[in-house]
Amino acid sequence: MKLLEDRILKDGNVLGENILKVDSFLTHQVDFELIREIGKVFAEKFKDTGITKVVTIEASGIAPALYAAEALDVPMIFAKKAKNITMNEGILTAEVYSFTKQVTSTVSIASKFLTPEDKVLIVDDFLANGQAAKGLIQIIEEAGAHVEAVGIVIEKSFQDGRALLEEAGYPVVSLARLDRFENGQVVFKEADI
Ligand code: 5GP
Repeated sequence: MKLLEDRILKDGNVLGENILKVDSFLTHQVDFELIREIGKVFAEKFKDTGITKVVTIEASGIAPALYAAEALDVPMIFAKKAKNITMNEGILTAEVYSFTKQVTSTVSIASKFLTPEDKVLIVDDFLANGQAAKGLIQIIEEAGAHVEAVGIVIEKSFQDGRALLEEAGYPVVSLARLDRFENGQVVFKEADI
């Protein structure tokens, strides 16, 4: 997605060997015009696949997932990272190791929001080693629902996430694919859309 790649080049900051900071438009401050376009691009790709829910994980997945859900006209569900006393009914959980925080946390979704009739599009901001997506897939499948595909805003193709998901049979659709960092600059490879 050219608009996204241009924005990454303009405002993204490479941190160390393998982190891209995009807090001025995606992961902290959110540029709703750009993220709305991202949502529309996901929706256009999946409009004929019968998606009934978009699922993400808090916090930075919420913005792109919400715009994708709006464009597909389906609900968006975000998995919660902290236990909450209001979640007092059936909850589905998975353990997720966070690449950026380097801690394992339990993520959960109330079971009432997913049914065996659901066809789910997972949307997340980044794909690194695929642990967030893997945890979401575990929860969605425990509910008996079907995972149609994983939609990623920024894939770091030099990490293992895509291979992990594709080998397990889940299609990955990424709007920007980072091949490598060279002298602190992003080098892209061809994106899926
Ligand atoms: P994974 O679970 O695929 O290993 O990592 C994906 C999660 O880690 C994303 O939900 C995202 O929050 C975070 N993440 C991974 N790599 C980066 C990165 O380079 N920059 C930022 N801002 N977040 C990242």
